[in-house]
Amino acid sequence: MIEFEKALKLILENTPDPAGICKVPLSDASGRVLASDVVSDVDIPPFNKSAMDGFALRAEDLEVVPANLNVVMDIPAGTTPSGPIGPGEAASVMTGAPIPQGSNTVVQVEWTSGFGEKTVKIDRSVNAGANVSPLGEIVENGATVLSKGTLIDVEEVALLAAVGCDPVPVFELPSVAILTTGDEIVAPSEKPGPSQIRDTNGPALAAFVRSLGLNPVLLHRVGDDVETLRRAVTEGLEYDCLIMSGGVSAGAYDFVEDVLKELDVTIHTRRIAVKPGKPTIFGTHDNKMIFGLPGNPVSGIVIARLLVETALRVRMGQNNSGIVTVRARLTKDIRKKANRAWYIHGTLSSGNEITVTPVANRGSADLPAAARGNCLIVTPKGETLIERDSTVDVVVWERSW
Ligand code: AMP
Ligand code: MG
Repeated sequence: MIEFEKALKLILENTPDPAGICKVPLSDASGRVLASDVVSDVDIPPFNKSAMDGFALRAEDLEVVPANLNVVMDIPAGTTPSGPIGPGEAASVMTGAPIPQGSNTVVQVEWTSGFGEKTVKIDRSVNAGANVSPLGEIVENGATVLSKGTLIDVEEVALLAAVGCDPVPVFELPSVAILTTGDEIVAPSEKPGPSQIRDTNGPALAAFVRSLGLNPVLLHRVGDDVETLRRAVTEGLEYDCLIMSGGVSAGAYDFVEDVLKELDVTIHTRRIAVKPGKPTIFGTHDNKMIFGLPGNPVSGIVIARLLVETALRVRMGQNNSGIVTVRARLTKDIRKKANRAWYIHGTLSSGNEITVTPVANRGSADLPAAARGNCLIVTPKGETLIERDSTVDVVVWERSW
């Protein structure tokens, strides 16, 4: 049995690099990972830009206020000033429009007698540079605005659009297959017969994979016999990542590890000092990675969120791919055994202070408890009591609270 951190390290060391690079339209780029640095082809703003609706003028003309200035031009957004302005002159200018040469500041319209007249009375003085965003202030032409390995979210899409990056170079998505094992497992749409249960891991793992922006293929539900399993795994090894559920413990019908070895998969981890999820297998075969997750429903989900997600993000080329934790105040004592690190579903609440409350659970089949939680409380190996009011690490995921 190896430590959780060691297992994570081993998994990441053996996670294959992203497959290749392709270009996608900007409109399809969110959720993808940038495959190269992105450089701006423009200055932003591209001219000295007014940040207000008002009057562009020379700050020097406002040494005495109120001041009356001649309005010599009007500059709506999207137009170019017809020429420079001189002393005693002003241009009415709209937000986002270039200010004319000769002007060095903008006075907002609220501090003036208003638009539409040949002269304007300016009531308040302003400093030179006020309400003007100078050329290149935000981004200089040629500057790197985003780096390779960045996950593209809403803000990144906006920035890519601003610098004209369309289509966008991204890493190809790994293909992911899911294979659930167990003679007792039936489809969720079926009414289980005696001694049967519904397959919760297949749909859950598919949803998990989809949450990473990938398109999983739900391969099969297979029974616990070596021959069928071998055929299904052989098919699963066609994919960049094969996620299996069940058949990895010490049972007489747990054949996953044997079949993987038989098919030349190199096994890097097979027992991890973590609860839930101890019998987790990670293996590689050429450029493919294979996870054998425990069949217990909560175990599979927890290991997916902790280990599979981290590995898949690396495989997708994302550079900040680690497990995301926040610190929170624990509202109840947690008692545990010292032998492993425990990851316990909790409810995280935000507000003036972040607190976390462990969800009472009846073990790793307790899906209602897992569903009540919105995070995982990290309780380290070696500890037996984590006291109420202590500060703990909490694993969070997107939209988890
Ligand atoms: P295993 O890892 O195959 O020994 O399974 C451990 C426990 O998880 C057993 O109680 C199984 O019935 C249950 N289990 C295995 N696979 C699934 C699945 N796909 N959906 C729900 N429960 C499962
Ligand atoms: Mg089984």
